[in-house]
Amino acid sequence: MTRWADRQNEAMTNGPVRCEHCGQANRVPAAAAGTPRCGKCHQPLPWIADADDTTFAEVADAAKVPVVVDLWAPWCGPCRMVSPALEQLARDLAGQVKLVKVNVDVAPQISQRFAAQAIPTLLVLRGGQVVARQTGAVPLAALRAWVDQALATAAP
Ligand SMILES: [Zn+2]
Repeated sequence: MTRWADRQNEAMTNGPVRCEHCGQANRVPAAAAGTPRCGKCHQPLPWIADADDTTFAEVADAAKVPVVVDLWAPWCGPCRMVSPALEQLARDLAGQVKLVKVNVDVAPQISQRFAAQAIPTLLVLRGGQVVARQTGAVPLAALRAWVDQALATAAP
């Protein structure tokens, strides 16, 4: 058993995360001090978590890696288009970023905090501070360029 798998009393991300390197299914906590790694081969795992008004501080603000926030809602068509691209990005940048998805319908305080007047609104947070912001759906390549630039400019 690994340290990650032992943390069973804490909130977990949705379902097991399959390692792209060895195929191992891993349980991944929604919030943790470091970044998740595969229990078998120790490669970084994609980190995709949900947050709401109650959990956002712990899941997003306290994260030690840059956080890509997806402010979305179930009824939003463009959100359903951008979500798979964001998840692909989280897989491509495993160990470097965390993707936190916030359903604005159940997170009015977070929605208000970031003045999300249109969705999807995408943010890059570092230590709880917004370092980049994007409104509306964009294709994967543009999303990737946007996040890469945010990570480069946000480096301390
Ligand atoms: Zn693995």
